[in-house]
Amino acid sequence: MAAAYAASFHVENVFLLERNEKLGKKIYITGKGRGNLTNAADISDFFDKIVSNPKFLYSSLYGFTNEQLLMLLSKYGLKTKTERGNRVFPVSDHASDITAAWTRALRDRKVEIRTDCGVKELIVRKERERLCVNGVRLDNGDTLLADHVIVATGGLSYPATGSTGDGLNFAKALGISTTPTHPALVPFAVKETDIFELSGLALKNVTFTVFSDDKRQSGQNKEHAPLASAKGQRLYEEFGEMLFTHFGISGPIVLSASSRIAKVLSESKYLPAQIDFKPRLSTEQLDKRLISVIDTQAKQSCRRLFDGLLPKSMGPLMLSRLSIASDRKIGTLTKEERTAVGKLLKQFPLSITGTRGFKEAIITQGGVSVKQIDPTTMRAKNVDGISFCGEVLDVDALTGGYNMQIAFSTGIAAGNGLMEEGSLGNKGDK
Ligand SMILES: Cc1cc2nc3c(=O)[nH]c(=O)nc-3n(C[C@H](O)[C@H](O)[C@H](O)COP(=O)(O)OP(=O)(O)OC[C@H]3O[C@@H](n4cnc5c(N)ncnc54)[C@H](O)[C@@H]3O)c2cc1C
Repeated sequence: MAAAYAASFHVENVFLLERNEKLGKKIYITGKGRGNLTNAADISDFFDKIVSNPKFLYSSLYGFTNEQLLMLLSKYGLKTKTERGNRVFPVSDHASDITAAWTRALRDRKVEIRTDCGVKELIVRKERERLCVNGVRLDNGDTLLADHVIVATGGLSYPATGSTGDGLNFAKALGISTTPTHPALVPFAVKETDIFELSGLALKNVTFTVFSDDKRQSGQNKEHAPLASAKGQRLYEEFGEMLFTHFGISGPIVLSASSRIAKVLSESKYLPAQIDFKPRLSTEQLDKRLISVIDTQAKQSCRRLFDGLLPKSMGPLMLSRLSIASDRKIGTLTKEERTAVGKLLKQFPLSITGTRGFKEAIITQGGVSVKQIDPTTMRAKNVDGISFCGEVLDVDALTGGYNMQIAFSTGIAAGNGLMEEGSLGNKGDK
């Protein structure tokens, strides 16, 4: 987007340098291969979904909205549809169609695309006490001089797609500050290995809560963190869908949690969490229901206790956590045991020990500090000849198409930011 828009303002010789053999490798895996490219909600609703630095994005998101994005893409042949949660996808369900449309836009605007062309470092000179970027040195040792460089190298997540954090190093080398980076929109690892056997089980209509850690944890080794028990302040709570995995938990409300608590988690040994499997029932209502189960099914064995309350595969784990033998008769449960059953259903404890890291993170939280960047043009404030856009910046949002819209809108802002330098010319391949 940055290259296409830079080119449309009569900037001659715009080069798009991509280290991979093809463009937009990450786009291919977005939205599970279907490419959730934006969200159809009113643009004013985007800001609640932006986790880091929403105010910085006002100018670029209003400057190039979701509606404008869809109009532009339709000009380049992309037909889209809107699904649940206002998520917008290509009608074809192929994310590759998004890349194809952008490639048509780039060709239309005469951008010279160079793939297999990694950038190693920036070429910088000093002019009247100010640093000025003057081009790039490529991985193969060649240099390409330029009047302006736009860095759109992405974050650190899914490095296999080419985003290995180079842009952060380019910024640091120029003295442009970056904020600490954390994997976000990423599954959690948990301490309680018993849930691993439920891998693949999805839960709907549950409430997931994460608490701050407790002072008692400090100094404890993660390896020996206790099972979730001590609960501090409520850091995150959401109702919706989640999933057990072979290492912990994932699914929509877990991914959102990871974005909201990424920083705290990185500073904690572990965070206590709990699942309420029956959020629509109060403790009292659930207790009444359990009394009725105990009365009406007294002669059944306890392996049937959770029938109708939880997915069948969860029964053995619940009984094991409660230390109730599965062959006991339901009618033999004591009041204390009934209370413990209710508590486990409403406050199923987990200890979050960390995330699955950048390899599995949808987004990187942190990046080039927005304080160093002009929000309208994406130019660095203190260094000439350079702009940053997309995920390399310290901006990130929840799932729903917001992150791609941010990348597109800030890309366009960066391209448009060259307008005043419309007469720039490339200084040739050296
Ligand atoms: C699995 C997954 C699913 C996702 N699904 C969605 C979704 O459905 N909707 C949504 O909105 N967002 C989604 N995202 C997030 C979204 O894809 C990113 O936020 C977005 O692609 C960021 O765009 P970008 O251009 O800033 O960076 P990237 O898309 O990461 O592109 C950066 C490019 O720069 C290249 N590069 C890096 N360093 C160099 C270098 N030194 N020299 C040359 N080239 C270099 C890389 O090869 C890469 O092609 C998803 C992310 C992942 C990982």
